[in-house]
Amino acid sequence: MRAIVETVAPYKEIIDVIKANGGDAFKRCFQCGLCDAVCPWNRVRTFSIRKIVREATFGLTDIESEDIWRCTTCGRCPQRCPRDVQQIKSGVALRRIATEYQVFPKAVKPVRTASASLIDEGNPLSEERKKRADWAEGLSVPQFTEGMDILYFPGCYLSYDPRLKKVARATAGILQQAGVDFGILGAEENCCGESIRKAGDEELFKRLARENIKTFIDHGVQKILVSSPHCYHTFKNEYPEFRAHFEIVHISQYVGELLNQGRLKLQGAYGKKVVYHDPCYLGRHNGIFDEPREALKKVPGLTLQELPEARFDSLCCGGGGGRIWMETPKGERFSELRLAQALDVGAEVLATACPYCITMFEDSRLTLDITEKIAVKDITEIIQEAL
Ligand code: SF4
Ligand code: SF4
Repeated sequence: MRAIVETVAPYKEIIDVIKANGGDAFKRCFQCGLCDAVCPWNRVRTFSIRKIVREATFGLTDIESEDIWRCTTCGRCPQRCPRDVQQIKSGVALRRIATEYQVFPKAVKPVRTASASLIDEGNPLSEERKKRADWAEGLSVPQFTEGMDILYFPGCYLSYDPRLKKVARATAGILQQAGVDFGILGAEENCCGESIRKAGDEELFKRLARENIKTFIDHGVQKILVSSPHCYHTFKNEYPEFRAHFEIVHISQYVGELLNQGRLKLQGAYGKKVVYHDPCYLGRHNGIFDEPREALKKVPGLTLQELPEARFDSLCCGGGGGRIWMETPKGERFSELRLAQALDVGAEVLATACPYCITMFEDSRLTLDITEKIAVKDITEIIQEAL
């Protein structure tokens, strides 16, 4: 193993640097291995977060290794760790160090492309800022102005990705049908910064967060409706680090509210067997398990079944922690395992509520050649079909 002290000259005090980056819980580890037992990587290849923790404790982290970039921040091992090692926080601290030294293995290079695009255009997809509202073409969605009830913040993937623009359009259609007073920021919206932070670029995260917070304040925003659990997580739990507090609602919660209040009425039938996949950042990280299921149960004709690993034990799609931008070889993608589970329980539709999950599942549907066997839908698309 190449010890980092030999490969990066100024790098001598790794434990101090980890500590300065917020990840000093490594030393509490007593090597029980419970983390490796639940980590989904060990279903597809060899990987040990326990070993990464051990190496960091002794200042022997090899920041040239792809392994420090492997964790999807799914949250499964921190909830099992008996010593509160905070694997995610500590793992991100290692990525910050690698980012500081600009040490990126080949598989991680796409993160640099995403960073450059975030700096230039406010999105990680190398798309133009001025096209950010193109998804809403022809839908008469207004620009947000002070006094409106809700800012709808679709986020980067729903704004630009052709598959996910359909989710943004379904959401806008639902809000309009229910008579919600909402607007969007369009080109003034920036990436929330959640994933680039988990990928180690703390300075870029801070820049994106400060710009968004200023835009929200300038426009008099109080309540923000989001489609991505990653936006939800960072607005709700991370932006308060900047003393910024807004009311944050995820669409899976809000659709349920609209149905309960009778503002949204479902008339069409959706006679399909559906399973709901809990996105890590909605479920495990934020405890939102029931609302998406309750909304789906209200759809006439829909049969809701459960996947074998659900709620707190949900199997990660593989797209968190910046992995959405990195190449994962076929055969090592968690999304393939999840689709197999959905097929095993006889589902016709794998429903979820996260743009990363949809991206990973749609990609695996294609590579596994199962597009005829199962569909992947955001819950808003199912609701829209039943309107
Ligand atoms: S579960 Fe916690 S204490 Fe056990 S090996 Fe993993 S990090 Fe260490
Ligand atoms: S957070 Fe998830 S992906 Fe990361 S090491 Fe833990 S179990 Fe594995």
